[in-house]
Amino acid sequence: MALALASAEPAAFELLNAGGKSDLVLLCDHASNRIPRQLNNLGISPQQLNSHIALDLGAADVARFLSASLDAPLILSNYSRLMIDCNRLPESNGSILHSNDGIAIPGNLGLSAADCLQRRQLFFDPYHEAINNLLLARAWHTTCLLSIHSFTPFLFGADRPWHIGVCYEDDSVYASQWLTALRSLLDVPVGDNQPYSIETDVDYTLPFHGRRHAIDAVMLEIRQDQISHLLGARRWSEIIARAWQQSNHSAIPDL
Ligand SMILES: [Zn+2]
Repeated sequence: MALALASAEPAAFELLNAGGKSDLVLLCDHASNRIPRQLNNLGISPQQLNSHIALDLGAADVARFLSASLDAPLILSNYSRLMIDCNRLPESNGSILHSNDGIAIPGNLGLSAADCLQRRQLFFDPYHEAINNLLLARAWHTTCLLSIHSFTPFLFGADRPWHIGVCYEDDSVYASQWLTALRSLLDVPVGDNQPYSIETDVDYTLPFHGRRHAIDAVMLEIRQDQISHLLGARRWSEIIARAWQQSNHSAIPDL
């Protein structure tokens, strides 16, 4: 049966504060754990659906707070990374996962090429078209992309000590400013391309839009236990906003 969204189900993305004056454009690839009703949560349990395997816990809250405090546009994906990962090359191994962190995803098994294409057309393409359109609309404006993610403190048997990580490609100018500013504000470990670096053959969002529009792009990864409640998300959004402000960027309203 063809996949279709019910009329009450939201569009693939949410765009907030499109006219925001900040130099930052915020993105949240893994903002939601929503699965279309038709797909029965892909056969995973409610606990699994509320874990890092389906979304970046707390990332959307941090991004929303930042959008408001910095007057920055924000685009969030409205569906789970388990439908199709908006930060992975379509049709790559990481695009529609059969399992994640050892948890099988039954609803992603046995998909045809047409099924995969449909997920791309329903979720991936509209999200990235929205990003592209936003960047075209503000082509006159200095822009740095900032994508907000969160990571699990423990993965594949290893502790991950960083509370936040700055992830970037070699050509980023802003990354070192983010690192310096965050380290000056924090006395906890700040990852330099940890827990991940950005890999052009793995990551999609920042390499694709950064190159296409010739703009700087940085990903912030926040440890999920720091932001899994609203107070923590607000606290971290304030730290990130202060770090941005401390880097002496123009067009930033007072916090
Ligand atoms: Zn993520």
